[in-house]
Amino acid sequence: MDDVLFKEALRDGDLLKMRKVSKGDVHNHCGLGMRFSTFNKWAGGNVKEPPKKMNGLEGLDNYIFNETIQFIKTGEGIEFLIEETVKEAISDGVKILEPSIDCSFTRFYSKNKEFFDTILKIQDKYKNSIQFKPEVGMPKTISNEDLENLLIPCIDSGVFKSIDLYGDETREDFERFKEYYKYAKEKGLKLKVHVGEFLGAVNVKKAIEILEIDEIQHGIGSISSDYVMDMIKERNIRLNICPSSNFILGAVSDMSNHPARKLFKKGIRITINTDDLLLFDSGVSQEYIWLYELGLFDGDELNEIRKNSLI
Ligand SMILES: [Zn+2]
Repeated sequence: MDDVLFKEALRDGDLLKMRKVSKGDVHNHCGLGMRFSTFNKWAGGNVKEPPKKMNGLEGLDNYIFNETIQFIKTGEGIEFLIEETVKEAISDGVKILEPSIDCSFTRFYSKNKEFFDTILKIQDKYKNSIQFKPEVGMPKTISNEDLENLLIPCIDSGVFKSIDLYGDETREDFERFKEYYKYAKEKGLKLKVHVGEFLGAVNVKKAIEILEIDEIQHGIGSISSDYVMDMIKERNIRLNICPSSNFILGAVSDMSNHPARKLFKKGIRITINTDDLLLFDSGVSQEYIWLYELGLFDGDELNEIRKNSLI
């Protein structure tokens, strides 16, 4: 039934119909997972709208540090970010949501348990509408002390189902995270890393070899090397791609030539996701319709991609 509805929604450019189809969002950051309007209303109405184009991660950081982060000062703020991300996903027909929750959020609670209980409470509240699978995230700038004091308790909590590393791609010290990734794997977490967003395949290869990841957030830079694409395919690594994010941050300038096409043609498992909805203003439903209208994929191909995100 979803297959038919999905292809009809694509053909008619029908967003409401598309929202009724089951989808996954497996590359999402819950600090920015709700609509700008939702955040702005909660923050008192004076937040500046995100620019339509940003200069890479530097532009993204500028906006976040000047506009959104300053409003998050308490555990209640964190609860708002997580719950609104889940609610937004439900309204878009997302059935599997894997949003990263930064391990530093524990700082807003006097005890780690309060932080974990908040996440579990939200998970339980919406369990009939969505599989909310919390992911623990950390920036590449995280200190060794915080890896021990913040990340390890998150891994040990049993609350998180996957792990992700994000931030400045030119920092290539994956070795520093190797033991933590190994530990997370032993504890049953799925391993993800942001790589190949702005830089090419060399970086992707390094992340795969050192961290032995299951999935890549972005990974579009892999197209610069057939060897690395083969490596991704052989290891069955899933690439969680975010088209609007790529365009707005300038990682891809010509959308009709988005690397997702080449990766899909190569037989690599890809998914389509939101990244930061607040900044890019496009839910997964909108992303599918956009890719179809661009002529990048036909209905059957997009349906296959949709199903990749529901496994
Ligand atoms: Zn991301």
